[in-house]
Amino acid sequence: MKFQRIKGCEDILPPESQKWWKLQKLICKHFENSGYFYIETPYLEQTQLFVRSTGENTDIVQKQMYSFVDKKGLNLTLRPEATASVVRAYIENKIYGSKNIEKYFYFGPMFRYEKPQKGRQRQFFQYGLEILGTPDPKADADIISCIAGLYKKLGVVSLLKLNSIGCKKCRHSYDNKLSHFLAGIKSSLCVECQMRASKNPLRCFDCKNENCTLVLTPAPIILDEICETCRHDFEKVKTYLSQMRISFEVDPTIVRGLDYYTKTAFEFVSAQIGAKDTLCGGGRYDNLVEFCDGPETSAVGCAGGMERLILVVGPELEKVDCRGVFFITLGEEADKVGMKFAYEMRMQGILAHVSFDQKSLKSQMRLANSLGVKFVCIIGENELKEAKVAVKNMSTGGQEKIKINVLPKVLLERLRNV
Ligand SMILES: [Zn+2]
Ligand SMILES: [Zn+2]
Repeated sequence: MKFQRIKGCEDILPPESQKWWKLQKLICKHFENSGYFYIETPYLEQTQLFVRSTGENTDIVQKQMYSFVDKKGLNLTLRPEATASVVRAYIENKIYGSKNIEKYFYFGPMFRYEKPQKGRQRQFFQYGLEILGTPDPKADADIISCIAGLYKKLGVVSLLKLNSIGCKKCRHSYDNKLSHFLAGIKSSLCVECQMRASKNPLRCFDCKNENCTLVLTPAPIILDEICETCRHDFEKVKTYLSQMRISFEVDPTIVRGLDYYTKTAFEFVSAQIGAKDTLCGGGRYDNLVEFCDGPETSAVGCAGGMERLILVVGPELEKVDCRGVFFITLGEEADKVGMKFAYEMRMQGILAHVSFDQKSLKSQMRLANSLGVKFVCIIGENELKEAKVAVKNMSTGGQEKIKINVLPKVLLERLRNV
């Protein structure tokens, strides 16, 4: 039997995986430096959690979830996104009780049954941020600026689109107005939008159908209808962003696809991956915790896809860092010494390679070259007799003999100075 990977699930292999790993570390470090704490929640949750939080009539719930019944008869789903799980954890562990403001970041695989294409997989990776416990628009700006800063660092050219979709109070009257408008153009809308028109009219703006976009152009927009509080908060978000010199464009059609969003909604888009696909999207979700049977809690968050980000990162991520040392060993005695030195180097936090299967000097040198190390140490019978090791600097080509008893110390000094 020939085993194959599941459609839409990718193997990420060296050397490309090095870029992936580097990017993942960079993202997580940037989030950590921005004051967010790592959170890990299970990949499996009760199906009902996503139905409740994401909304019964969303594409995710209707078409894209990997759901199954386990051996005990429980309805389970592989998470299609992480916010619902974070909120579930927040409620279940009674974190709200501390009255603290929680800042989380996550990174991991999500699962959606979609048509696989460039930048879109069925098992895909998302990085995301959540702040729970504050209605302060500063938190919205904190999240947006964190992502904008990350993209700037990575050399990603993106455009930030910003909108406010109002709160419980102001959305109601707007939804009525929009429904009224949609009723007038019902026959021109696609089948899905006709359904949305009665259940969640705002989501018609999310439709990818070009005709729907066109007939929606004269529709009333939410920004003209939001209440004083929402308007004030939206102004504050914009002020903070301007202060940080983060440019944005107010776009009243940014409404986000999920039922739980309120107030600030935003998307980072990039011309490099196509205008319909977002790099990162998010917004405020002040009703979600309550909606999942927790106490009333204001929150804001965002998520971005790793597969899309890696397509648009600048060239700095491509270059291989020359670092570490390779111990070329010739003969059994040399193998022992090489293993010992490699262990010592690794314990000091230095990357150290050894080779297996007693290869020739030439093939070990070739391997060292391909790995891009800074130094190569050649340990053979002669070197052991003389108690001196040949050390080659791979960037200058210079070679010197170092006494074997001081080798780890000398290597450490050299590697820390380059
Ligand atoms: Zn409002
Ligand atoms: Zn439509």
